[in-house]
Amino acid sequence: RRQHLLEKSCLPAVTPDGRRIRLFSNIGSLDEAKVALQLGSEGIGLFRTEFLYAEKPQPLAEQELIEVFGAVADIFEDKPVIVRTLDVGGDKPLPWLDIPAGDNPFLGYRGIRIYKEFIDLITCQLRALLRANAVESRDLRIMFPMVISQEEVEWLIELVHTIESSLTEEGLAYRHCLLGIMIETPAASLMADKLAPMVDFISIGSNDLTQYTLAVDRGDTAVHHLYNPLHPAVKRSIEHIIAEAGCYGTEVGLCGELGGTREGIEFLAFLDIDEISISGEYILEARDLIRNMSM
Ligand code: PEP
Ligand code: MG
Repeated sequence: RRQHLLEKSCLPAVTPDGRRIRLFSNIGSLDEAKVALQLGSEGIGLFRTEFLYAEKPQPLAEQELIEVFGAVADIFEDKPVIVRTLDVGGDKPLPWLDIPAGDNPFLGYRGIRIYKEFIDLITCQLRALLRANAVESRDLRIMFPMVISQEEVEWLIELVHTIESSLTEEGLAYRHCLLGIMIETPAASLMADKLAPMVDFISIGSNDLTQYTLAVDRGDTAVHHLYNPLHPAVKRSIEHIIAEAGCYGTEVGLCGELGGTREGIEFLAFLDIDEISISGEYILEARDLIRNMSM
């Protein structure tokens, strides 16, 4: 069956009655990007950059990051490569990053919340992305995790502009990247009408959106039976985000594990979603499912 699906991996994910959905991949490394392309992925919907740092004794240098981002973008040629800025914190520690674990790591000091304190770290990532994107054939995009407010998004956009000014002053080549946010908190979902017009694209993080909407720790086996990305409350939230994004013409995708299940694809395909980003090989099944389902 795998071989049969692989042979069809160059076909577009389009239903027999003409609904086209772009299928992207979630990756954490250059090697995973290569595999994703072989599976017929049409872009990277989530590059989790924390994995790049995980095995290193110190943060990656700007030049090292330029090389990785550039290499992934080159593999995907003119297709979008959405790179998520560092999403670490209590539950995802890095050995050289001094962050207190906190009593409630999932509600704690994590994601963009640490950027003001660790401004050099995030500046390095953003400089590398902007500089790697100077090559015109590339389409690198920047995505920020764990957003809860308009003020945060204003600050992040301002930060990118400040960094662009510095690069200009330094005479270094760069090109602006499209900017987006993850919607993965109930606050961001409820504020989608305000956040959508501020950015170029939105990606729904169904893993955290489920966890925070249902107040169910995504990693706690004792409440595993309650962790349901297809709970009606989560579905309503997703429907709401997609509708609001549509009102403002903001591109909207989903990059949580919901896209890696049959039920998830069946639910999402009927909504006005532009792109679904999938982990691992499930993209083969998702394409086949969409090509055989009628709207
Ligand atoms: C999510 O929360 O849905 C997501 C894609 O991000 P992560 O799983 O890395 O938290
Ligand atoms: Mg998340």
